[in-house]
Amino acid sequence: MQDATASDAVTPSTLRERFDAVKGRVAAAAKRSSRAPEQIMVVVVTKTATPEQIRELLSFGHRDFGESRVQQLIQRAAQMDEHLSRLKELRGEAPEVRWHMIGSIQRNKVRKAIELARLIHSVDSLRLAEEIHIQAARRPTPVDMLVEVNVSGETNKHGITAAAVRHVVQQLDTMVNIRVRGVMCMAPVDGGKDEARRVFGLCHDLFDEIRSSGVGGDAFDLLSMGMSGDFEEAIECGANIVRVGSAIIGAPAPGSEGSDDQGAARG
Ligand SMILES: *Cc1c(COP(=O)(O)O)cnc(C)c1O
Repeated sequence: MQDATASDAVTPSTLRERFDAVKGRVAAAAKRSSRAPEQIMVVVVTKTATPEQIRELLSFGHRDFGESRVQQLIQRAAQMDEHLSRLKELRGEAPEVRWHMIGSIQRNKVRKAIELARLIHSVDSLRLAEEIHIQAARRPTPVDMLVEVNVSGETNKHGITAAAVRHVVQQLDTMVNIRVRGVMCMAPVDGGKDEARRVFGLCHDLFDEIRSSGVGGDAFDLLSMGMSGDFEEAIECGANIVRVGSAIIGAPAPGSEGSDDQGAARG
């Protein structure tokens, strides 16, 4: 018997249950890799979430959210800001939300992306890094970013090849307005868990090799890999950030292409 919650009537489980289940699996995978659960950051990917779901996650104490398109990030962040300022009026305080940019960024959207996101996971070319460096010149603090690696070498995929990553990280390390914090990768879409594990293992080796060479210094400490289908494998291979969408948010409602209907008036 299940309590019916108004916000989530159509799916078999509630957002709370899915969130707790993922957090439990993250904790178990952390233990298996001899780490504490708090050492693994879960970024909830909200690209198919409703604004209500995001607010609910916030009420569970969750703070890290990810978007893969700058336009959507702008919308989400604006909605959230509005919500947070209402909270602040009501209670005198509001939590801080951290946005993560996890998808490819056109150069003309760089300014907005770095203004809104606390970490850019998806720097997939030296040119993009240079643009970020230029746009960040007016900031008091450098922009934190990860280099996206195309470990599997698939030609249709974003990211810097494994062979070039070290050199790119070295270049980034010389740009004062950015701070390269680590690397990000994705497993092939339909490669299965064994292939995911292989790719994550290679990415971890690459990360370790760069880190131990001293490039990037102490700040080079983030390894972002793993999504709904493979986050446990990623953690076991050393990830300390996982990006989880559908396992928490649920499948998008049939027929809802993207989610550009957030302006819908309610109540
Ligand atoms: C959508 C997305 C995710 C989350 O994918 P799920 O399978 O829904 O967990 C993670 N990382 C990136 C880069 C994405 O675009």
